[in-house]
Amino acid sequence: MHTLFISDLHLHESRPQVTRAFFHFLYSHAIHAEALYILGDFFDAWIGDDDDSELLQDVASGLHKLSELGVAIYFMHGNRDFLLGKTYASKAGMSLIDDGTVIDLYGTPTLLMHGDTLCTGDTEYQQFRTMVRSPQWQQQILAQPLAARRALAAQLRAKSQSMNSLKADDIMDISPAEVIAQMEAARVTRLIHGHTHRPARHQLVVAGNPAERIVLGDWHDSGWCIKADQNSIDLIEWKI
Ligand code: MN
Repeated sequence: MHTLFISDLHLHESRPQVTRAFFHFLYSHAIHAEALYILGDFFDAWIGDDDDSELLQDVASGLHKLSELGVAIYFMHGNRDFLLGKTYASKAGMSLIDDGTVIDLYGTPTLLMHGDTLCTGDTEYQQFRTMVRSPQWQQQILAQPLAARRALAAQLRAKSQSMNSLKADDIMDISPAEVIAQMEAARVTRLIHGHTHRPARHQLVVAGNPAERIVLGDWHDSGWCIKADQNSIDLIEWKI
């Protein structure tokens, strides 16, 4: 038996090749797993569970089929799909999990995060995050008509791209001190996250013990996953 992790597919109508690659991954690989963890930014944007676009319905029914076949599916919010709610999650047969969940991965306590909270050098983003994660802001947005939310999502997407193009590379990456603080607080020696689009395995020392941070890649020209079983854990890339 094995467990799979993916993140940052940024599924969107404008990138049908990534959607195709995801369905291929689902039916040729994920179908053999005991669990699939989706660690955020699975969708490029989320405007509410009442969004009736075809892509979202297809993805929900694909995931739901997988869950009926016995694969446990877990979903963690990213900074783009943080409004995904219980209605869609249940339609897709997946359980929502909190950012910062610790799981027992075949005997190794493993901290799972999306990764944006580790980028503490980007104070502008962290302020924005605090605002959009507040229940008041979310209620206000979700009360607007679908068309208004679509327009807002496009606006936020453009804003995020222009903000990020002005920032230095290291501001956009995780803060090493924050990684160690989070891993110490969670009492783990392994962390899996995405968000930075910098897939890699990093060795570090946490509370005096050898530790590892494994970063998932975003799906663009390649697909990425982490595959873990009783004996090993691998970061895997393939061309799409
Ligand atoms: Mn992200």
